[in-house]
Amino acid sequence: MNIILFGPPGAGKGTQAKILVEKLNNYQVSTGDMLRDEIQKDTEIGKKIINDMNDGKFVNDEIVNKLIKNIIFDTKKNNKLIFDGYPRSLTQAKNLNLLLDESNQKIDFIFFLNVNKDTIIKRIEKRKIVEKRSDDDLKVILNRYDTYMETTRPVLDFYSRNPNFYEIDGTLEIDQITSKIDQLLKV
Ligand code: AMP
Repeated sequence: MNIILFGPPGAGKGTQAKILVEKLNNYQVSTGDMLRDEIQKDTEIGKKIINDMNDGKFVNDEIVNKLIKNIIFDTKKNNKLIFDGYPRSLTQAKNLNLLLDESNQKIDFIFFLNVNKDTIIKRIEKRKIVEKRSDDDLKVILNRYDTYMETTRPVLDFYSRNPNFYEIDGTLEIDQITSKIDQLLKV
């Protein structure tokens, strides 16, 4: 089963992705984690993206699409993907459809975790203390939210027509969101 977790930064996509990975024995596809890994390893990609990442700006589609392609064509992960933080633009959403078609896969569920701006700010400020992420300063958070509204939100129109699209109240507690997802997945 392939699942997309969609929503603004701080909506809880990563948290739910980890729970789903455990439950379904699937693989988490977090482009954020993949990009942070490139920076930590100081790779060529890492050097190119570090400034954009720290400012809360998007990394360009070409780099992200390349990272995603390797995972989609990894036969071990076939039909076992939990997307968290991808796609984040219309170009990426179209690229994903194309790659899934080419590899004979599809999206089984799209869960939109809907959260308002105030909740996001509170949650990310808390995460900053726990995880010490360098892109979690207030100015950067607001940048990330604006980028989401501008570039990522239009992807909602693209997916909301899909019969497998479900909106979930992302302001609920973690276990409440998990149980809503479970009900929809019937697991
Ligand atoms: P995340 O861990 O998903 O919150 O992502 C952290 C940061 O990584 C974002 O603010 C972007 O700078 C970058 N990033 C992650 N996923 C993508 C993506 N799909 N497209 C472009 N940039 C991304």
